[in-house]
Amino acid sequence: MKVQVVKKIIVINMVVVTLALTGCGNAAGPAAGSSAAEANADSNNESANTDSADDSTDDTENTNTTSEDYELLTREVFAMDTYMTFSAYGEDAEAALDEAEEEILWLDQLLAAESENSEVAQLNKNGGGQLSEETAYLIERSLAINEETEGAFEITVYPVKQAWGFTDENYRIPSDAELAELLQLVGSDQLELDAENKTVTYKKEGMKIDLGGITKGYASSRLADIFMKHDVQGMINLGGNVQVYGPKPDGSDWRVAIQAPERTEENTLPWLSKAASGSAALAGLDYIGVLETNNQAVITSGGYERYFEKDGVYYHHIIDPKTGYPSDADLVSVTIVSEDGTLADGLSTSMFVLGLDKASEIWSAHRDEFDMILMDKDGALYATGGIKEQFTSDLEINWIE
Ligand code: AMP
Ligand code: MG
Repeated sequence: MKVQVVKKIIVINMVVVTLALTGCGNAAGPAAGSSAAEANADSNNESANTDSADDSTDDTENTNTTSEDYELLTREVFAMDTYMTFSAYGEDAEAALDEAEEEILWLDQLLAAESENSEVAQLNKNGGGQLSEETAYLIERSLAINEETEGAFEITVYPVKQAWGFTDENYRIPSDAELAELLQLVGSDQLELDAENKTVTYKKEGMKIDLGGITKGYASSRLADIFMKHDVQGMINLGGNVQVYGPKPDGSDWRVAIQAPERTEENTLPWLSKAASGSAALAGLDYIGVLETNNQAVITSGGYERYFEKDGVYYHHIIDPKTGYPSDADLVSVTIVSEDGTLADGLSTSMFVLGLDKASEIWSAHRDEFDMILMDKDGALYATGGIKEQFTSDLEINWIE
């Protein structure tokens, strides 16, 4: 049995800011929306190292400092099971990075269902309980996204994720009978959230929640709030999920590269149809395309990010709550672009489950809130009209209007 966990890293350059946050919470409370940190991925650079401060200068002594006078400071952290890079630029950048690092480690401890002492693990053990502000906020957002996605985003799917071994890497294929049993514990309508008093009650014994599909986007929006508080600019890259805050020092937008679906160790692309996996256009493709932005989160979901293989079949970590199986819709990669990092993360997971047609339909009803970049199993690339001026690709783009 082969196992793969891909760590996506996008090459980063640097940062500066001038943007106001849209709908962000304050740094002390949960971020209501998100923001504008800044990443720059060089689509021509195939290396996977993080590269900071290329164009910055050390000239921080000047009294009339401009954005270009600051050095981009970069911090690397391993948390939430992934490699992260935070870069900030401005008078108070060091302090902002210190606080960002502290925040991410704290959020990881609070929210990771797999860590025995996390709040989420305790809730799962006790069938609910009192919630921190952050957990209450995330459960509330998750329930709202569940409704908007006709149940595709489903935080109560955790017992099913456990059965497949994605929580402890003891991978196995549960029987249909086992899945049918576990699916009875799945359903957001069986979670009773009291948002005012910040409590949750699980209505069925054995229910468990997992905020893994939304945590990173939320975390990046929290870090952007920290950058805002310190009046620094920067970019946050949580394992390839990027949030940028402000334009580059020269005033131009950051270029965020959207990673192409990863190849397996055998250099195959089992996520794609046979014809597409042999296609010349996709053969050497590192990036699906490049998005230019100065104020958005860019968050990608794909089955290739975590999976195992048994008897030639690949099983990935995004579960269709209706079947209990890894979702089998027609998409291989879903990127959501939004100023609201929490929404972007929740939707990236959801749209992957829902597939192209349903995702397009939901986008039509919410086009002011987010945009999408999608690749289907035939290797066809789709993007929504709101990012027409921002997104470019070597592949042909089918615009969804
Ligand atoms: P992401 O990389 O954001 O798509 O999140 C994937 C993670 O979300 C998985 O590893 C699970 O922890 C969790 N998850 C899996 N399936 C679902 C689902 N249908 N709804 C919500 N979370 C899910
Ligand atoms: Mg997600």
